[in-house]
Amino acid sequence: MIDTHTHLYLSEFNIDGDSPGAAVDRAVKAGVDILVMPNVDLTTIPLLRDLADSRPESVRMAMGLHPTEVPADWQEAVDRIAAELRGRDASRFVAVGEIGMDLYWDASLRDKQMEAFDRQARLGADLGLPLIIHCREALDETLEVLEGLPAPPPAIVMHCFGGTGADVELIRRRLVAIPEIFFGIGGVVTFKKSTLPDALPVIGLDHIVLETDSPYLAPVPYRGRRNESSFLPAIAARIGQVLLPDMTAEESVAAVDAATTDNALRLFPRLKSL
Ligand SMILES: [Zn+2]
Repeated sequence: MIDTHTHLYLSEFNIDGDSPGAAVDRAVKAGVDILVMPNVDLTTIPLLRDLADSRPESVRMAMGLHPTEVPADWQEAVDRIAAELRGRDASRFVAVGEIGMDLYWDASLRDKQMEAFDRQARLGADLGLPLIIHCREALDETLEVLEGLPAPPPAIVMHCFGGTGADVELIRRRLVAIPEIFFGIGGVVTFKKSTLPDALPVIGLDHIVLETDSPYLAPVPYRGRRNESSFLPAIAARIGQVLLPDMTAEESVAAVDAATTDNALRLFPRLKSL
């Protein structure tokens, strides 16, 4: 099983005798053998690199500047991200991310976020890398930036997708130039009030990838706790219940694991060569 979006390198995992490395080891033990870790800001780059160096069999890196962490001097910050993606060990990065738009916390940052997103998305397209997209309360702005790219990236994933089937159709219609659009499904799918069970058949099992977004949004039955990648099978189980109701629990988890692993390898081709 592949966790396509997890931040186990953050300080939340460095407390009470726990460590990022131990969290990776628990995930591997739970059957989650590959972990894609998107960067957040400039301070997290060394944390991400340290964990990738200490668990080279399991940890894969993506490089980008998260929309809520776009600083006033965002151009310099994006230059640093670009230097990572073009640097000596550039082939270790499987994607550009996470990048995107987030107007939930502070809508006044709209223009700055759009510019930083646009520049990083162009960088991904130039390098032939997929994009990991964070989009919160900003679907229209997100689509506007992606539609305006001079050349499309090979693939994108709408990470932590929480929309409706109509949103899925709108995204596909407006981003018709992008060859592959995947949807990252996380703990929200296990929540009682989630609209995702209706959206999943529209997405289809061939375009879903699994993610925890650790340390946030732990799935039921871990809800309220710090999330970690070892909880990923609970998300696969819920997707299986929704999309493959005629199978036994064991069969449907195996089918979701096989399909989403295949999807993740299409989304991030570099996972195969690393
Ligand atoms: Zn994230």
